[in-house]
Amino acid sequence: ATMPPLLSAIALAGRNGVLVKSAVVMERLADTSLVAFDKTGTLTTGTPRLADIHTTAGIDAFELLRLAAGAENPSEHPLAVAVVTAARERGLPVPPASDFDSTPGRGVSALVDGKRVAVGRPNLLDEQPEPDTAEIRRAVTDAQAAGHTAVVVTVDGQPQGVLALADHIRPQAAATVESLTALTGATPVLLTGDNPGAARHLAAEAGITDTHAGLLPADKVDRVRDIQTQGQRVLLVGDGVNDAPALATADLGVAMGRQGSDLALQTADAVLVRDDLSTVPAVIDLSRRARRVVK
Ligand code: ADP
Ligand code: MG
Repeated sequence: ATMPPLLSAIALAGRNGVLVKSAVVMERLADTSLVAFDKTGTLTTGTPRLADIHTTAGIDAFELLRLAAGAENPSEHPLAVAVVTAARERGLPVPPASDFDSTPGRGVSALVDGKRVAVGRPNLLDEQPEPDTAEIRRAVTDAQAAGHTAVVVTVDGQPQGVLALADHIRPQAAATVESLTALTGATPVLLTGDNPGAARHLAAEAGITDTHAGLLPADKVDRVRDIQTQGQRVLLVGDGVNDAPALATADLGVAMGRQGSDLALQTADAVLVRDDLSTVPAVIDLSRRARRVVK
């Protein structure tokens, strides 16, 4: 017997690197009217490199990096991996961490060498009195103006430095944005927890004009709902723990297979097994063709 069209479409999608979790998902992919992308790890390779270290007078750059790497070591976030890799490459032994805590979309905190070390988004500075943080804030602004992601390191509650991380656009990103614009009639949008400067740099490279930056996981959910309220059927592509609630809210959630966190993979309706963005327009097109056969 010949396979029903939706099942053969699932098999074909699988051969092309997209794991579609059900026939219902395979069918609904055709309804996508707008695609939204997460940035870090999704439109970018998610393997950022440490580009610059800025420290206050109280601490040496390598000591700051060593402590930050200790706090980041238990985290699977791409920024955490970059910090740990940078420490190892400089021959710094990564110290053990205890009482580790991570907040999706914000950062990490742990006890390292008996000190409370936090690494995370620059809003960490908002808990500090303004005059003490002027120098650090300047370093954050400089890094962001260069299109980098700036993370702040605090030691025992004192801001001690800024790590500037440089990420790279995935090679297929711009072509994928172009195909999706042609296919759905709407230019994809960017939803990111990162700063507006880094978001704008990346969006310009990818050909995206509509960017929403500085979003916490719950804000990503709100943005998806807003877009749905405008009558769009939203397909969201993401990789992080921070994307999971929005992946569940979107009409269809798609996770990056290699870069993706376990939670994103479980929550998503489909998985890009090879992290190849160009398979997104391909699978929407496949769904449309399968539907034509069914009807
Ligand atoms: P995106 O939405 O672009 O994938 P995330 O929501 O994962 O970004 O992260 C948003 C911001 O939170 C980062 O730019 C960084 O400032 C901070 N952050 C999150 N996790 C970490 C971490 N493990 N170490 C340092 N900073 C982090
Ligand atoms: Mg991400």
